[in-house]
Amino acid sequence: MKILLAEDDRTIAEGLQYSLEAEGYEVVLCGSVREGREALAQEPVSLCLLDLGLPDGSGFELCRAAKAHGGVPVIFLTACDDETSVVMGLDMGADDYIAKPFRLRELLSRVRSVLRRSGRLSDGKSQIVLGNVRVDTLAAKVTKDGRDVFLTALEYRLLLAMLASPGKVLSRSQLLAGIWDVAEDFVNDNTLTVYIKRLREKLEDNPQAPFLIRTVRGLGYTIPADLFGEPEE
Ligand code: CA
Repeated sequence: MKILLAEDDRTIAEGLQYSLEAEGYEVVLCGSVREGREALAQEPVSLCLLDLGLPDGSGFELCRAAKAHGGVPVIFLTACDDETSVVMGLDMGADDYIAKPFRLRELLSRVRSVLRRSGRLSDGKSQIVLGNVRVDTLAAKVTKDGRDVFLTALEYRLLLAMLASPGKVLSRSQLLAGIWDVAEDFVNDNTLTVYIKRLREKLEDNPQAPFLIRTVRGLGYTIPADLFGEPEE
């Protein structure tokens, strides 16, 4: 599994390269847009990790090139709280982004989930563990502290839509699109708010201070990637 890493900060680049290689990935390190373009043209890669500010241009250019090369998945490394860049990146088809400084564990988990989502990695997992909440996607069953949680079809679909993209911020319109076909009545923006609230009441320890389903102001909702645990056995 080959990852193209475009990052001109040597300390970050070398640290990341080391950690990715330790996880078994092969890393093609590029320090500029030009090098990135050359690498994309030369060899197939499974994923691109792109810094935004490169000496001869921006990571957006490489994202465009990656998408043109068979839709290679892209994760942007952004400066923290740079919402404009995040929105622009996601609009360009980026699969995820992570704000610097990031925790390595979170980055690796994002890499895995983007690869999984893009079908470049399949582990056939049907059990999803989020702290004391467990979702069995084969049985369509949700438990909290070992007790069954009863979700309506719509609530369950909403949850699945978020579980499918660990750590990815889903806009309200993306979530609405994801539940459209099970929605019996017309679902509008306000009803989405109501369904998120119900999901939180059923799943969160403290629905007033949600831990699982986080609101990202002005952008949408997300379930943080680092909450996803490994099921035992
Ligand atoms: Ca940079």
